[in-house]
Amino acid sequence: MNVQRTQTDVLVVGGGLVGLTAALVLRHHGLAVTLFERRTGASSQPKARRVNMRTMEIFRELGRAELIREAARDLAGHDRMAAGRTLAEAELLPLWRPADDSGTAIEPILVEPSPELPCLIAQDLLEPVLREAAVRDGARVRFGTEVAGVVQDAESVTATTDTGEQVRARYLIAADGARSPIREALGITRSGQGVLGEPNVNVYFTADLRELVRDKPFNLCQIEHPQARGGLCSVDGRYRWVFMAAGGDTGREWQRVLETAIGAPLPGLEVHNVLAWQAEMRVADRYRAGRVFLAGDAAHVMPPFAASGANTGIADVHDLGWQLAAALRGRTGPLDGYHAERHAAGWFTAEQSSIRTVNLRDGVPSGEGLAHPYVLACGGFQYPLPGITETEPITEFAPTGRIGTRIPHRWLAEGRSTLDLAGPDWALAVAGSPIPWQDCGFPVHQADVDFLEPGEAVLLRPDQVIAWRGTDPRRLTELAVADGVCFTTAQ
Ligand SMILES: Cc1cc2nc3c(=O)[nH]c(=O)nc-3n(C[C@H](O)[C@H](O)[C@H](O)COP(=O)(O)OP(=O)(O)OC[C@H]3O[C@@H](n4cnc5c(N)ncnc54)[C@H](O)[C@@H]3O)c2cc1C
Repeated sequence: MNVQRTQTDVLVVGGGLVGLTAALVLRHHGLAVTLFERRTGASSQPKARRVNMRTMEIFRELGRAELIREAARDLAGHDRMAAGRTLAEAELLPLWRPADDSGTAIEPILVEPSPELPCLIAQDLLEPVLREAAVRDGARVRFGTEVAGVVQDAESVTATTDTGEQVRARYLIAADGARSPIREALGITRSGQGVLGEPNVNVYFTADLRELVRDKPFNLCQIEHPQARGGLCSVDGRYRWVFMAAGGDTGREWQRVLETAIGAPLPGLEVHNVLAWQAEMRVADRYRAGRVFLAGDAAHVMPPFAASGANTGIADVHDLGWQLAAALRGRTGPLDGYHAERHAAGWFTAEQSSIRTVNLRDGVPSGEGLAHPYVLACGGFQYPLPGITETEPITEFAPTGRIGTRIPHRWLAEGRSTLDLAGPDWALAVAGSPIPWQDCGFPVHQADVDFLEPGEAVLLRPDQVIAWRGTDPRRLTELAVADGVCFTTAQ
């Protein structure tokens, strides 16, 4: 066979939400990227639908937030939950409010948490949007191509596809899903609580329910009929639906079950596929093996009730992207930082997802040790960086700009957020005069915000995480020159 050989900076294996976002992030950092996906199209099930604020902030940095909000317009305003014996009898429930351990509603947060609102968009709709954007940004994206084997040496990693093509890359991101053949081949083990709860099935169907849902723009409707218990998810709010039912039996007479759940005849009902799934909590014990990095479900699987699986994976590649770019540009890279940071974040989110089971009528997730929902949705997790003096709380969302956390969002002039200061570059946000800081080696921005004292500065990594905080420009310059303890890839 005539073997085609190509080279790239980073090879991404897997073209789900995480692999496709990785391609966008890597292009944002100016790296050459090739992506292989064995499927020929998008996910056959809508699965993930909730895109959280932190993910929207990442898409904002990539210049794609508007594009995604536009693609998500079908479910705009579908913020409410509903419940009833059948869909026909269901009513919208009061708007959900975050609650503490005891179920008492937490007072609303007075500060706007993010420049971006979350949105609802089905995975099978979002994947093609990301794919097109990645191609437009110059990524080489090949669907219908399976990676059959991966070998690495000290300099590079080489993947061979089922079509015989060989790609040599400096680094490889395995975004190849929960069963991750690459993780398995590397012998990377996983830890965690394992299988949780009962098996479930997701029935993806189309039916014209416009009349029935006209006054009920719900996200999820809890169906309480004894013969058809489950959750009905809006996929486009009109024709496309997913019915989630407990029990692993994919072979039930779904036409009849769905008619019972809806409480009305369903002319034109078509069941497209039935997916059996089981909630699991498992986190890879190593996110890195040499030049290969795990991301997304390959690195962590978690119950979907906190809607965090894809969002956590997208945060993985947002972190990894800038670290790979720094390493490829010859800076002494903190590539081991990727495991330290994202393994901790993955474990935390998977654990939080495991204690979140929701009865919609109760209105609040139950379970002890619950983090404030915005900690999950807004990147409130604190990375274990050197130099941390204050620990970020998890049961409240009150970010004050501690080291290892995402910079709190505050509006600056001209509709810019503090989050817009960094990415793809580092940035120094300074309260008061920027002049004393101008020789520190970072782009300096004046940001007179409530969480900084006059004369104080925070150094932002390209992923908007605070690497250093202080009032002494000379100290920052020394650390930067010494390739210091807090940040080893500063420009
Ligand atoms: C019912 C349900 C609801 C959910 N809701 C949410 C939600 O609201 N929000 C949220 O954030 N998450 C949610 N999730 C979780 C979310 O769906 C997953 O976390 C996310 O899709 C994982 O994305 P990924 O790209 O890591 O993996 P995948 O989507 O599994 O993609 C991996 C890809 O790799 C490809 N691949 C594997 N091996 C190879 C190979 N050798 N060569 C080439 N390609 C290969 C596969 O074909 C696959 O397309 C939900 C999950 C379920 C089951």
